[in-house]
Order: sequence, then C-alpha cells, then structure tokens
Amino acid sequence: MAIPLCYGPNPHLLHSRANGGTPLCNYSGSHDQTTDNHLAFIRGKKLLKDLSTWGIGGACRYFTQVFDPTQLVSAIRYCQEHSLRFMVIGKGSNCLFDDLGFDGCVILNRMEFLEMEEPGVYKAGSGFRFNRLGVQCSNEGFTGLEFAGGIPGTVGGATYVNAGANGQETADVVESVDFVTFDGRLRRLERADLKFGYRSSPFQRMPDLAAIVAVTFRLQSSGTSKTRLQEYLARRRASQPIGERSAGSVFRNSSDLGVAAGEFIEKAGLKGFRVGGAMISKVHANFFVNSGGSTSQDMLDLIAVAKDKVYQKFGVQLKEEILYVNPSKETQ
Ligand SMILES: Cc1cc2nc3c(=O)[nH]c(=O)nc-3n(C[C@H](O)[C@H](O)[C@H](O)COP(=O)(O)OP(=O)(O)OC[C@H]3O[C@@H](n4cnc5c(N)ncnc54)[C@H](O)[C@@H]3O)c2cc1C
Repeated sequence: MAIPLCYGPNPHLLHSRANGGTPLCNYSGSHDQTTDNHLAFIRGKKLLKDLSTWGIGGACRYFTQVFDPTQLVSAIRYCQEHSLRFMVIGKGSNCLFDDLGFDGCVILNRMEFLEMEEPGVYKAGSGFRFNRLGVQCSNEGFTGLEFAGGIPGTVGGATYVNAGANGQETADVVESVDFVTFDGRLRRLERADLKFGYRSSPFQRMPDLAAIVAVTFRLQSSGTSKTRLQEYLARRRASQPIGERSAGSVFRNSSDLGVAAGEFIEKAGLKGFRVGGAMISKVHANFFVNSGGSTSQDMLDLIAVAKDKVYQKFGVQLKEEILYVNPSKETQ
C-alpha cells in the first residue's frame, strides 16, 4: 500500500474557522506520549499558545521536537506512516494559531548550532535564534544582519518568510540553504538559484519541502555594524510595543502601498481599538497585541475590522504578513 503523502500547511491566506467550533484535538486516549526512533511524540496535550509569541492557540494532535536533520527525517517518516499532516515551526512569531489547535503534528525546530566557516561566513542551524545571530555578527564587525536584532524568530523562519527591516532583508546575505525534502533527502540551493521577494521565498512554493535545516550567510566586514545594530534596537524600543504579546507587523508594507500599513490603520482611528482580548497597539498600529485572553477569533475579527475600515476610508486592500494556521485538514 502506498504511503499517503503528508503536506505542509502553506498558511498564507487568512481564513475564518473551518468548522462549527468543535475542538479538533481533544484526545482522551490513554497514551499521552509515544516514542519512535528515540523521538517523543506528545499526543493532544501540547498547546500552541505556548509555542507562539501571540500566546494564542489550542492543542495540536501530535507534538515533537527535533535537534538534528536525522531526527527531522524520522519525524517526517512517522507522520507519513501515520498519515499525519505536519508543520515545522520555529518561535511561532509570525503565526496565528487557532483555538481549535492543529489536526496534525507540530514539529518544533531545535537545530540550533552556529559555525563561522571563514571571516564573515556564518553557517547557522535553522533553529538558531535570528536575533542572537544578528547581534553576534554585528558585534563581531560584520554588516548585513543588523536588522535581525530584535526579531524573535529562528533562522529557518526568517529565511522561509524572508524577514526584513530597516532596508535590509534576509535574502540580501544568504549564501546557501540546506533543506530536507519529504522523501528524506538533504539538498542545498545556492544563492544564484534562490529567488526571494518581499516577505517571500522559493521555499513557500516548494511542494516537497519538509524543512530548512541550515542557512549560510556571507557578510561584509564593517566598522559601523555595532553602532547600526544599536540604532536599530533603539528604534524598535521607541516604536514597537516591546514586552507585549504580538507577532510583529500584521500587514505587509509592500512598496505598492506607498504608505506604511500602520499609518493607514492609525489614520483610520484604530489605535487602541479592541475585539475581546485582541487590541491594536497604541504604540504601533501595525502591531496587534494579545492584551490578555485573546482568542484566535478575536484576533481574526480585529484583523478583518482593520482591513475593512482601511478599505472603506482609503480604498486600500491590506494584505496579511502573519500566517494563519488552519486547524483542519481542509485547504489552507
Ligand atoms: C516583536 C516582534 C518583532 C518582529 N519584527 C519583525 C521584523 O522586523 N521583520 C520581520 O520580517 N518580521 C518580524 N517579526 C515577525 C517574525 O519574528 C519573523 O517573521 C520571523 O522570521 C519568524 O520566525 P519564526 O521562527 O518565529 O517562524 P514561525 O512563526 O515559527 O513560522 C513562520 C513560517 O515559517 C515556516 N518555518 C519556520 N521554520 C521553518 C523551517 N526551519 N523550515 C521551513 N519552514 C519553516 C513555518 O512553517 C511557518 O509557515 C516580528 C515579530 C515580533 C513578535
């Protein structure tokens, strides 16, 4: 019998809840944990709100964490053998998980190494913290990743979404990317083969991608990287709701908008506007915060209000930067 292919979520579109509100992941089986090839799979207990910066999300059907590519391949094989949909996540800092959870296996990426291959060339495990990488490279006198200071994701997440800020983006300094495909093969793509765009990467369109496992960055030496890093961090502290539960910018700031998404939202009079526990930050209108007990539906409704009001007032269609993770097996 053929093993059914599992599929990644590609949650680039915002959807409302897929069913009538029944928890998908309320498993009461007697086995809370299973092990496979030294990997522990937790069943029905792991809450996605504990795996996301927004602090929103119900239980996933299965949860495991992987520390190296071999474990990743084992986890994928397990999912395939059990016909489980899976999703690899980093810090969950760009994801809106649903209160209904995730009817599949969430694989937490803990591949966290960092090596300097030659001066300015850093190879990082995809689970390495992007903020830490930016701070370390800049302090060591290399420019290109100063913007990563203050971004609370992983190297893998940043590469997958092509994270950026202050006129820099991940794509600018990527030398090569190592990744694993569904059939367990380790592959590498070099810079010349990688076509990134604004918050987009070829990995979002790769049907057989299982996960990015490592990224090599080539940076230039610079006498000002440390200062620039400090400037960028100060700018974040002054303009963003640091310490509050958010997922960064909710909407994209693509150049065709002309004006930053947050400016439209602010001009629509929505700073401080709330739906339940979800609130548009009073500090930065493109940051929506979980001010306490926000449900995923609160956040989805707040996003819908902002889109609607901005469209009514300015005729501008805002597009989500955050990724909504559909809990069910239906199309994302
Ligand atoms: C306070 C704050 C500030 C922020 N500032 C910025 C900013 O300045 N610029 C910016 O661009 N973003 C910003 N963000 C958003 C977010 O931190 C980034 O998009 C980050 O790169 C997401 O990384 P992650 O590891 O958390 O990804 P996750 O949220 O865990 O995942 C995001 C997507 O990437 C996929 N993914 C994650 N890891 C892998 C992997 N190893 N292989 C394949 N796919 C993978 C996931 O499946 C998912 O589809 C901010 C967020 C916060 C909370």
